[in-house]
Amino acid sequence: MELKLELEKLRGGIRQQVEELSGQVIAECYQCGNCTAGCPTSYEMEIMPNQVIRFLQLGHGDELLKVNTPWICASCETCYTRCPKGVSVAAVMDALRQIARMRGIKPPNRNLTTFTNRFLGTVRMHGRLFEAQLAATYNLTSGHFFNNMSKLPGLLFKGKLKLLPHRSSKKGQQAIKDIYDRVIRIESEED
Ligand code: SF4
Ligand code: SF4
Repeated sequence: MELKLELEKLRGGIRQQVEELSGQVIAECYQCGNCTAGCPTSYEMEIMPNQVIRFLQLGHGDELLKVNTPWICASCETCYTRCPKGVSVAAVMDALRQIARMRGIKPPNRNLTTFTNRFLGTVRMHGRLFEAQLAATYNLTSGHFFNNMSKLPGLLFKGKLKLLPHRSSKKGQQAIKDIYDRVIRIESEED
């Protein structure tokens, strides 16, 4: 894709918003590509992590709100640990998701929304992720009933998938509940 420099866009816009929300300095990135090379989910991304920074540098941040990349990012921070310039692409992705939410832009793929909602639902219910429930509820609500079913026996056999949720402490569960309550309160105040 050819990117053209647009001075007006370079001065403010999404880049400035991303810098304010993420605390990152976009100009620090010198495009070494280390972040993309270590990213475990880049194979699913429409724009690679280093390209996200490049788009922002060249004033094309709006394009980033139309692609799946910020929603595919798992916030694992591998990019941050590998970056020689200390740029957290994870924080940038988080800022892009926040900007999308503020503008009422939904993920480009309905499955991404379904997955996110099911993920948050299991964490809210158990205080941490319960993968078996996530997989089952995602398959049922997305309509992909047999998604990854062939992997199930192997995962169970190797003990990678538990059939019962991990029990969090009462204190931990309360802390998670407080976070959800706070977010719901903030979102209702914004409406
Ligand atoms: S690792 Fe850091 S410097 Fe290298 S491309 Fe990624 S963000 Fe830029
Ligand atoms: S935080 Fe996101 S962009 Fe960075 S390595 Fe993890 S999945 Fe990739």
